[in-house]
Amino acid sequence: MQIDLATLWYLTIGTLLVSAALTLWERQAHPRRARELGTWGGACAVFAFGCVVAMNRGLLPGATGAALTNLLMVLGYLMVLHGAARLDGPARFRGSAAALAALALLWAVAGWRFEAAFWNHVAALPIALACGLTAWTLLRSRTIRGLRSRPVAVAVSAGHGLFYLLRGLVAPVLAERYGPGLLPVFAKVTMYEAVLYSVAMPMTFLALVREEAQAQLLAAARTDFLTGLANRQGFFEQGARMLAERVADRPVALLAFDLDHFKRINDHHGHAAGDAVLALFARVARDVAGPDALVARLGGEEFAALLPRQSGRTARQIGEGVARLFAEAVAHRDGPGIPATVSVGLAEAGPAHADLASLLSAADRALYQAKARGRNRVEVAAAA
Ligand code: GH3
Ligand code: MG
Ligand code: MG
Repeated sequence: MQIDLATLWYLTIGTLLVSAALTLWERQAHPRRARELGTWGGACAVFAFGCVVAMNRGLLPGATGAALTNLLMVLGYLMVLHGAARLDGPARFRGSAAALAALALLWAVAGWRFEAAFWNHVAALPIALACGLTAWTLLRSRTIRGLRSRPVAVAVSAGHGLFYLLRGLVAPVLAERYGPGLLPVFAKVTMYEAVLYSVAMPMTFLALVREEAQAQLLAAARTDFLTGLANRQGFFEQGARMLAERVADRPVALLAFDLDHFKRINDHHGHAAGDAVLALFARVARDVAGPDALVARLGGEEFAALLPRQSGRTARQIGEGVARLFAEAVAHRDGPGIPATVSVGLAEAGPAHADLASLLSAADRALYQAKARGRNRVEVAAAA
């Protein structure tokens, strides 16, 4: 099969314009990533324009066509890089603009006089550099860490950068050795690769943004909106994992909490004050339980804390600490200023309560004892 160079140019321009349109359209679905998608879509449009200029560069005087083509392409790659850098937060384009200005100056000074050498030897190197930096930025990004599509996005940018590095360093040497007859072959291979990149680049970036949004939705489905703690689903998923990964003979304890007479708080002070009390309890419980604990709101005014590597004795101290500090904080002038207390049930994982559900029901039984014995106290479940 033979494809002439002009067909490849038209094909590349077409795929770039479709990629630009799809990437820009995707912004409505992902308003949080609208700027990044806009930058990548804009880059595709700049590439397409660069291709149009490249096809017609013979019509422009001197090295203007070659310089303009190269500057437009480098601008496109710097926009791709900028979008990748923005994934982790605001990023400046200043450095990229300065690099572009330096390249323009280089074209004006040296490129004008040695157009062919400049086009064959130098033009590909800033592209390789920008793609390499994009791959590095994606690799280092905190935000997209763990996403399945990240290694693919890194590979696409790194592979494209490597291709241009070889084109800049190896292709001219080969052409010198085996004659300029190779140049049209290089041009075709370059355009063929460009068609692949113009599809792969936007596809991997769209995959990154969609996967990130899906991960955020999943996290929201496991989080309680009012307190920011894990919700019931999050508690059972993560808690079951923690119990499964538990090292044998290491203790694990579970505290079940239920705020006392909470209905009265709502009735006397209003639902908003009740919400403030719940949020305050969540803060106190998380602070006292520590970073290793899984603290969750199981529903209404009921909470739980799974404490890995804590013996029954220290778990009891943690439960008492939560109850004391909550009662102090909630009645304080700076807090909701409402007297409120919490009852706590404690159970330890063991042969009798090996899974999370039975551990929780044991802690719940202890909690009802705490209610029955006057509230605002910790009761411990029987070992078996
Ligand atoms: P006990 O000491 O026996 O636990 O009594 P209680 O009043 O705390 O228990 P009960 O189960 O009768 O009442 C729980 C109340 O919690 C009822 C409900 O209106 C309230 N509640 C549940 N979810 C929320 C919430 O998100 N915000 C507020 N403000 N109140 C809530
Ligand atoms: Mg309750
Ligand atoms: Mg209650």
